[in-house]
Formats: sequence, C-alpha cells, structure tokens
Amino acid sequence: MAAGDAPLVCPSCGLEHPPSERFCRACAMPLVYAHRTRQSAERTGERRMQARKIKPQYSEGKLVKVAYAQNQPEAELLQGLLLEEGIPSMTRRAAGFDVPDFLAAGPRDILVPESGVEAAQQALNAPAPGSTDPADPLDPVS
Ligand SMILES: [Zn+2]
Repeated sequence: MAAGDAPLVCPSCGLEHPPSERFCRACAMPLVYAHRTRQSAERTGERRMQARKIKPQYSEGKLVKVAYAQNQPEAELLQGLLLEEGIPSMTRRAAGFDVPDFLAAGPRDILVPESGVEAAQQALNAPAPGSTDPADPLDPVS
C-alpha cells in the first residue's frame, strides 16, 4: 500500500518501527513519521515572509545613505528595523576602512533606495526596543 515506505520512529529513543506499529516497543511512546522535515519548511516560510514584507514603493531610485553603523551586528540590527517598515536596505563598508583588519568589525553605511529614504529615517528615529517608553506595545511591562 502507499505510505508503506514512511518509517515510524520513537520520538523518545529513536527506535525505528514498521508502519503497522503505533507505539514504541521499548518505551511505549506514540510513534512519529521519520521523514518529516518541519524545520526546513519553517525556514523556507520565514524567508518567504521576509521577502513579502518589502514594499515595492520603497524599492525605487538610486541607493542613498541613511545611517551609519559601528559594526556589522549594528548594521544588521538597523536593517532589521528598516525591514519591519518594508524598506529594503544594503550595507557598504564605510570609506577609509577597507583594510583587512577592519573587514569584519569596521563601520558600515546603511543604504536604502531613494523612494524609501523618508520612511527609513522615521523608522531609525523611532525609540529602540528596550527603551523605557511605557506606550511601546513591543515592550510589554512584566
Ligand atoms: Zn522508544
């Protein structure tokens, strides 16, 4: 029959079982299908969601520098903020720091398309997460 080649495994001990079994012979746990790759499916969905976030009206025009980051992690944080607003962005190593010592840690310019500059500046001027603004819905008071 179909689905006969989907081996069942015990989620607890990992022991494989034929499809006719329902519970693990060793620890009586309900068996699950071994070939499920839920993790990779979630990752693909995440990437698709990120692409869908970008608003086309913010992706026109030449690239303009809107911000400056001290290092790559800070640059990625700023890019994340921009993406939240639907603004595509890219980073460029700041001029004068293109020596090998600075490749990983050097400052970065953040660039966005001309049509997204205004929205980008608003997004970057918004209070950062973790600030003590009680009206910030992203930072619920515990
Ligand atoms: Zn088991």
